[in-house]
Amino acid sequence: MEVINNIKLMQEISESIRYSKKKIAVVPTMGYLHTGHISLIRRAKEIADIVITTLFVNPTQFGPNEDYDKYPRDFNRDFELTKYNGSDYLFYPDTKEMYPINFSTSIDISKITEKFEGVFRPGHFKGVATVVAKLFNITKPHYAIFGQKDYQQTLVIKRLVEDLNFDIEIIIVPTIRDYDGLALSSRNTYLSKLEREKAGILFKAIETVKSEIAKGQRERLILNSHLHKTLRQIPEIKIDYASCAIANTL
Ligand code: AMP
Repeated sequence: MEVINNIKLMQEISESIRYSKKKIAVVPTMGYLHTGHISLIRRAKEIADIVITTLFVNPTQFGPNEDYDKYPRDFNRDFELTKYNGSDYLFYPDTKEMYPINFSTSIDISKITEKFEGVFRPGHFKGVATVVAKLFNITKPHYAIFGQKDYQQTLVIKRLVEDLNFDIEIIIVPTIRDYDGLALSSRNTYLSKLEREKAGILFKAIETVKSEIAKGQRERLILNSHLHKTLRQIPEIKIDYASCAIANTL
C-alpha cells in the first residue's frame, strides 16, 4: 500500500488507474479505525479493483466547541489496518494541502441537513459535503463507500451526488456493533468504563422501538415516547435528539 499526501499526485494515480479500465472505490474516513471502517474497506475490495482509503480529520466539519483538537489519532495503527485489509492507497493529506490559504468554497445542501444532526451541529454537513466533493475530485472513484451508522450523512451524500451530477455509485454498508449493540465509533474511546456500559441503552432504545413497530405501532409520537422513556432509564443522559422518521426524507 502506498501513502499519498499530495493532491496532484493522487489525481494522476487515479487518472492512470481509470485509463487502464480498472474500477476505483474510495473509503473516506477520519481515522482511528475500528471494525466498522474495516467493513467498508473490505466491501470496497469486493466491488472494485483498486481501493483508496482516505484519512483526514476534516476541521471544517467540527463546530468551534467540538472535539477537533482531541479527536483520537493514530497514523501508524491506521496505516497497518488499512494495509492489512487490502487498501491499495492511503490518501493522507495535511490541512494546508486540503485548505490552502485562499480556500473559499463550500457546498450547502438544504432540507435534508435541516434536521437532527444538522440542528445540533450547525455547519457540520456543509463541512462534510465540501470535503467529500473534494475527495471525489481527488480520488476520481467509480464507487464511494459510507456507513449506515451516520444515516443522515448517507442521505446528504446521495443528495450531493445527484444534485451535482457526480458519476459515482454510493454504497452504504450496515452498522457494525459492539458486544452490547452499541455502534462502534472512534469517539467511544472518550467514554469511561462505566459510561461505556451505560451507553448500551442506545441500542436497547432502538430495539424497544423495533419491537413496537413489529407489534404494528406506527404513530411517531408514541414510538418516540418509547424511545425517550428507555433512554431516560439512565438519568445522566442528555438527549439532543432521538426520533423515528421516514427513512428517505427524515
Ligand atoms: P469516520 O471516520 O467516523 O468519519 O467514519 C468514516 C466512515 O466509516 C463513515 O462512512 C462512517 O459512517 C463509517 N463508520 C463509522 N463507524 C461505523 C460502524 N460502526 N459501522 C459501519 N460504518 C461505520
